Amino acid sequence: MKIDPLQSWLASLTNNEPLIIAGPCSAESRDQVISTAMALKEIPAVKIYRAGIWKPRTRPNNFEGLGEIALPWLCEVKKLTGLLTTTEVATAKHVEMCLKHGVDILWIGARTSANPFSVQEIADCLKGVDIPVMVKNPINADLQLWIGALERLNQAGITKIMAIHRGFSVADKLEFRNDPLWRIPMELKVKFPELPLLCDPSHITGDRNLIHRVCQKAMDLNMNGLIVETHPAPDNAWSDASQQITPLQLKLILNQLSFRVEHSGDADFELQLNNYREQIDRLDNEILHSLKLRKTIVEKIANAKITENITALQRRRFDQLMKERIEAGSKLGLEVSFIKEIFDAIHDQSIKIQTDLFEKSKK
Ligand code: PEP
Ligand code: MN
Repeated sequence: MKIDPLQSWLASLTNNEPLIIAGPCSAESRDQVISTAMALKEIPAVKIYRAGIWKPRTRPNNFEGLGEIALPWLCEVKKLTGLLTTTEVATAKHVEMCLKHGVDILWIGARTSANPFSVQEIADCLKGVDIPVMVKNPINADLQLWIGALERLNQAGITKIMAIHRGFSVADKLEFRNDPLWRIPMELKVKFPELPLLCDPSHITGDRNLIHRVCQKAMDLNMNGLIVETHPAPDNAWSDASQQITPLQLKLILNQLSFRVEHSGDADFELQLNNYREQIDRLDNEILHSLKLRKTIVEKIANAKITENITALQRRRFDQLMKERIEAGSKLGLEVSFIKEIFDAIHDQSIKIQTDLFEKSKK
């Protein structure tokens, strides 16, 4: 992807602080749009105003957004507050209307980014237009699909591009509305370090009481900003009422966040960190050597099993092994789920090594 590595437009907007976007889930009336914006203007960290104008709803007959009549209200917000404005687009028609009304930044929602046809339609419509676009992760936990959507826009010439992590739909809902699966946005960050990555705690949690926790987690993971649904009277919101907070609550949350930096200027600290890292490198190497040694023994077992015609998987042995490892690991203070994950992976590999050798022995 060709992303402006300096992201100078963003740096000058935020002064290298986390980018904060806030505003209601949906634009409901001129009064609601303007009054929310006037309250947000009082929070200096907030630089961009969000409001949904076309709302993709899971079920029909819910409020689907006010549509084009709400676009001039965003212009007014900009004039009155100086905040940049952003809204969700899902079709080429939405894009055209936003460009006509001077919306500053567009975003592609989670349902749309899951559909390459829709993303391509939007990308084609944006050829030759120099507008920032934010791409939410698709609702399903598919990093490639997310990257694909970003690439489609990038190939259409959009370089002011950002990703928004809003969590994923999963079968078993735990405490959040959408499972954050943090390793997915982290993998995106590793693959594209220059791509700004924002977190949407509102759609992850679905619950205003959990917003603060997820904001802090995003900052701890060195994400580049937050997009938070903010409404003057959250309980009366026409969409996503349970996850919206007031501008005052947003201000309190932002004030309480501890911001971390990726590197410290303190030489002693860097030295100490380096020392720890060398220890970690040594230990990781020992783990790799142990795995290699284990592999050679698994191969010996496989050859013995070939002679005796024994199956690769011996359930009882595996259950016993897992039980013992969990007991031993717990005594050492390791988390049970972690030990299970590791030994499941080690055992899967051991079965694979054995069945590969079985296959070879038949040739
Ligand atoms: C929204 O931001 O209001 C929205 C509809 O989000 P998502 O696409 O993440 O569901
Ligand atoms: Mn919403």
